[in-house]
Amino acid sequence: MPVTDWSKLIPKPRSSFLLVECNECGNKQVVFDHAKIVVECLVCGATLARPRGGKAEILGKVLERYG
Ligand SMILES: [Zn+2]
Repeated sequence: MPVTDWSKLIPKPRSSFLLVECNECGNKQVVFDHAKIVVECLVCGATLARPRGGKAEILGKVLERYG
């Protein structure tokens, strides 16, 4: 049985913005959830999100979602 990837089964046509907390320094930063480039923390430079075929992979802690 392959592991089910729900993100591919549940269509989410709308993009949104996420409030992401940096794992390294705790900085809170708004990140586009379909970011096409690597998003770095403005304070410490840690990677907060990286593109992954459409929807970005969020590496920090998602606190809020807008839109
Ligand atoms: Zn940081």
